[in-house]
Amino acid sequence: MIENNTINYSETIVIGAGAAGLFCAAHIGKAGKQVTLFDNGKKIGRKILMAGGGFCNFTNLDVRPSHYLSQNPHFVKSALARFTQWDFISLVCEYGIAYHEKGESGQLFCDNSAQDIVDLLAQECAKGKVNIQLRQQIDRVEQVENDTKVRFKIHANGQVWACQNLVIATGGLSMPALGATPFGYKISEQFGLNVIAPRASLVPFTYRETDKIYTALSGVSLDVNVSAGKTHFRGDMLFTHRGLSGPTILQISNYWQANDSVEIDLLPSENLAEILAEWKKQSPNQQLKNALAQVLPKRLVDLWLEHNLLKFGHKSLAQLSNVEIVELVQFVHHWQFQPNGTEGYRTAEVTMGGVDTREISSKTMESQQHSGLYFIGEVLDVTGWLGGYNFQWAWSSAYACATAIGQNAD
Ligand SMILES: Cc1cc2nc3c(=O)[nH]c(=O)nc-3n(C[C@H](O)[C@H](O)[C@H](O)COP(=O)(O)OP(=O)(O)OC[C@H]3O[C@@H](n4cnc5c(N)ncnc54)[C@H](O)[C@@H]3O)c2cc1C
Repeated sequence: MIENNTINYSETIVIGAGAAGLFCAAHIGKAGKQVTLFDNGKKIGRKILMAGGGFCNFTNLDVRPSHYLSQNPHFVKSALARFTQWDFISLVCEYGIAYHEKGESGQLFCDNSAQDIVDLLAQECAKGKVNIQLRQQIDRVEQVENDTKVRFKIHANGQVWACQNLVIATGGLSMPALGATPFGYKISEQFGLNVIAPRASLVPFTYRETDKIYTALSGVSLDVNVSAGKTHFRGDMLFTHRGLSGPTILQISNYWQANDSVEIDLLPSENLAEILAEWKKQSPNQQLKNALAQVLPKRLVDLWLEHNLLKFGHKSLAQLSNVEIVELVQFVHHWQFQPNGTEGYRTAEVTMGGVDTREISSKTMESQQHSGLYFIGEVLDVTGWLGGYNFQWAWSSAYACATAIGQNAD
C-alpha cells in the first residue's frame, strides 16, 4: 500500500481495543492526555461480548495473586493491589449496571448482557476523548532513536502515526475468529524482549483413541475433583464428543503439562469403600452396577459395563471381595485420564505464556529496556484462573499503565 506522507501524531497509541486497551486508553484520556486506540476489528471489545456466555464474568469477589500463573509470580501483586476488584465493582455500580454473584463462587456477572460492560468502556473512552481507529492493519512499528517526543512510528492502513508512548494490548492467541493475532509477541521479539512460549489454556481436553468410547457420554456432567500434581479443583466436569470439558477441566488445563495424566475423583462427595460397606449390610443382593448408578450417572456405569471396564458390575454386593473393592475404589476415586491434547486456540479462553514479565516494570507495565513501550493484559505472561480473574488482570494492568502515562510530565 502506498503511504500517505502526512504523519499523524498522538502522544500515546494503544493497540488493541479489548478489555485492557479500552480501559487503559480511557484512563489516559481522562488524565488529560492525548490518546489514540487502534484495533484490527470493526467493533470494540469483541471478546468481552462473548465472555461468560454473553453475561461477562467481569471480576471475582476474591482476587489474590495466587489466582494467577506466571513465570514471575510476584509480578501481579502491585497492579492488583492498586486497582482492585472493588474499584471495578464501584465503576460498574456508578454506571448502574445490574450484576449478580454466581452461587457462592465469587464470580460476578452482568444480569442483563456483556454489552453493558462494553458500553461502560465506550463511555469511559468518550469521557477521555479517546480517538478510536478501527479496522487498522498494522504493517510495522518503527523505533525512533534520540527523540523523546517521537519514540515510535506506526505504519497502518497506508498512514504513518507517530507517538511518544506505545501500549501493546493485543491479547493472546485464543479465538482467532475474534481478531486474535501474534502481534504482541512479534513486537516483543522486534524489541528483543523474551516471550514465554504461548499455549492454549482454560481449554477442554481431547480424547486419545482408546478413550473415544466416552464420546457416547456427550452431554453427561458430574461433580468431580480433578488434580494435576499438587493442584486440584472441585466442580463440574462435562463429557463432550471430543473430550472432557466443564469448569473443573478448564481450571486444571492451566496446570496440565503435555503428555501428563490428570487424576479424576469421580465421586468426591463420598467415600466409596464406606458406602459399599453400608450398602452391603442393607442390601447384600443388590448388583454393584445398580448400587453405583445411585451415586454416579447411569450412562457412565452402563458404558463401563458395556466395555468391560467395570469387571464385576454384575456381581451382588455380597459377592465382592476386599481386593475387588480396593480395585473399584481406585477406579472411581483415582481415574488416571491422559488427554490426547487440548482443543487449542479455537476454543481456549486464554493463552498461557506471553511477554516475559521479568522484562517489564510491575508498577508501570513499561519495558525496562525501552522507554515508552508498555504491555498490558493477556499479552503478558500472566494467566488467571477461570472466574473473572483474567478480566481483573486486564483492568488492573491497564490502570497501572494509564496511571504511569497520565503522570508523565508533558
Ligand atoms: C469465549 C471467551 C470467554 C471468556 N470469558 C471470560 C470471563 O467471563 N471472565 C474473564 O475474566 N475472562 C474471560 N475470558 C478471557 C478474557 O476475555 C481475556 O483474558 C481478556 O479479554 C484479555 O483482555 P486483553 O484486552 O488483554 O485482550 P483481548 O480482549 O483479546 O483484546 C485484544 C484486542 O487486540 C486486537 N488485536 C489483536 N491483534 C491485533 C493487531 N495485529 N492489530 C490491531 N488489533 C489487534 C483484537 O482484535 C482485540 O480487540 C474469556 C475468553 C474467551 C475467549
